[in-house]
Amino acid sequence: MSTSILYHAFGLKGIRHTSTHFRSDAVIFRAEMTSDLIRCPRCGCRHASFKGRKSRWFFMSPIGRKKCYLVFDFHRLKCEDCAHLWWPSLPFMTGKHRYVRSFALTVLDLLRFGTIRSVAHYLGVGWDMVKEIHKAKLRLLYRRISLHKVRYIGIDEFSIKKGHKYMTVVTDLRTGRILHAVEGKSKEDILPFLQKLARKARKLEGIAMDMSSAYFYAVLEALPKLDIVFDRYHIMALVNQAIEELRREQQRELDDLGKKTDHPANEYPVSVMCWNDKAKELAADYHYSNFPFDRIALAPQELEGCSGEGEICPRRRMNLSHSISIT
Ligand SMILES: [Zn+2]
Repeated sequence: MSTSILYHAFGLKGIRHTSTHFRSDAVIFRAEMTSDLIRCPRCGCRHASFKGRKSRWFFMSPIGRKKCYLVFDFHRLKCEDCAHLWWPSLPFMTGKHRYVRSFALTVLDLLRFGTIRSVAHYLGVGWDMVKEIHKAKLRLLYRRISLHKVRYIGIDEFSIKKGHKYMTVVTDLRTGRILHAVEGKSKEDILPFLQKLARKARKLEGIAMDMSSAYFYAVLEALPKLDIVFDRYHIMALVNQAIEELRREQQRELDDLGKKTDHPANEYPVSVMCWNDKAKELAADYHYSNFPFDRIALAPQELEGCSGEGEICPRRRMNLSHSISIT
């Protein structure tokens, strides 16, 4: 009965249940190896004798709120045909790791809803074990990444090692998949991958990035025909910075004017003057109605209408590479 449970619930094949122990916080299944999966790795012979014995503990998925462990007793085998000696590896084992395969699948399922730390806490295992399972899965998924269908990519950097170093990440904007990650954020760091993209990603149409000169010139060199889209956040930040500088300049001019003429217009800050009719009227007397600030104050709202939210639309694309200076 318990052998069936171990097989159907935990996917354990080639074993026979021998006993179950109950602790206040855990259930411990003990099992031994059967002869079903014995096969000499050298000659394929199915007849072997026992030469040595050991037990291994494995983490298994919990039952209810109880942790589960498997204590597996098995033997070193000696082939009766070619005398080869080996420790058998069963399908539920994952190398020398201390968990069964179904436990790793449970971890991956839980990682869809929680962080590595919370999953480790829930399962009662170390953070490093959960991280290791996750990394193994990612390694498998991203061992080979096809670049042929990529149409839009994004490139950005993030800091590692408490801000002392940076990594550059290139993502497929349609799938959210990471295509490439490399330490550093210079042109030389990213250029080799962009050259690879130029060879393989024939359908590539656009790249979104911040206003880093390193990325900009790397793309110009490797993919000169590609549309470059600067993300709105950085454009808006530059526009707002320019507006603020202009406002301060205009305010200084207005203050100087007020000191000379004692006119009430100087009592109004420039930011109010653009919206207040009375202030506009007063400023008009001194030909201030055509403030540059007055004209560009609406620029942020107008720019906001230029790009879609989270989508790429070729007709709305803003290629500002020639109109905005690159930092
Ligand atoms: Zn053999």
